[in-house]
Amino acid sequence: MADFRYDKATWCPGCGDFSVLAALQQVCVRMGLEPEDVVCVSGIGCSGKISQHFGSYGFHTLHGRSLPTAQGVKMANQDLTVIAAGGDGDGYGIGVGHFIHACRRNVDITYIVMDNHIYGLTTGQASPTSKKGHKTKTSPAGVGEEPLKPLELAIVSGASFVAQAFSGELKQMQNIIEAAMKHKGFSLVNVFSPCVTFNRVNTYEWFKEHIVNLDEEEGYDPTDKYNAMKRIAETESVCTGILYREERPAWHEYVLGATETGTVKQTLDITPADAAGLIDQFRR
Ligand code: SF4
Repeated sequence: MADFRYDKATWCPGCGDFSVLAALQQVCVRMGLEPEDVVCVSGIGCSGKISQHFGSYGFHTLHGRSLPTAQGVKMANQDLTVIAAGGDGDGYGIGVGHFIHACRRNVDITYIVMDNHIYGLTTGQASPTSKKGHKTKTSPAGVGEEPLKPLELAIVSGASFVAQAFSGELKQMQNIIEAAMKHKGFSLVNVFSPCVTFNRVNTYEWFKEHIVNLDEEEGYDPTDKYNAMKRIAETESVCTGILYREERPAWHEYVLGATETGTVKQTLDITPADAAGLIDQFRR
């Protein structure tokens, strides 16, 4: 059986990111994937360490840049299962431009955001998803802005799979991550992943009290975009489950054709002498 354990995670005891790593490892085994079939591309922050702790190929990129790197990996080799991962500061702050374009581009990757509503690695500053009024080191009088709404932003930007999970509900998170990885196209899994050290407001208990599980809502239809937007707004974005999904061709199917496997599998119709000449031109 494949083993996706690599090294001992160094997150604080109780950090929600442990559950995300465990869910991802278990789903990969459940799907029969081998470590060499999978690439995990992460950004900067506590959550960015996931590419080091996960026993697949890994790429720890620059701040906010996991999505362009992950899309490039998938465009180059369609045979790989590509996971992009990061936190709310990384993905919805400096990386938010990439996020919007990844949603509309629909490259077949899964983006897991460990959303703890704070910057953890830099010891507790307000992040794009910090709630209005939250007092932090950078907002001693309380955050003055409305929080960024990643689920709504993903849907209006054209994401074809939008889900939300909670680190305190491992089984549901596994099912959501598996569905996201099987989805053809860009899938967002925003995970409430509490920072037990620097966010004393949005704790496991806080999420348990506030979460509305739409997977348990009878008759909830995730293909109904307008109802998805309505329920997300009604629950003030504290809902979990597969919130929206849509079948449409992924980027490579639309642009390259369904049988195209990406540039790494293409044979170059040039001689070694031609290749040497090309390299020589770049040297000049
Ligand atoms: Fe997790 Fe917060 Fe510790 Fe970072 S600082 S490892 S987010 S608990």
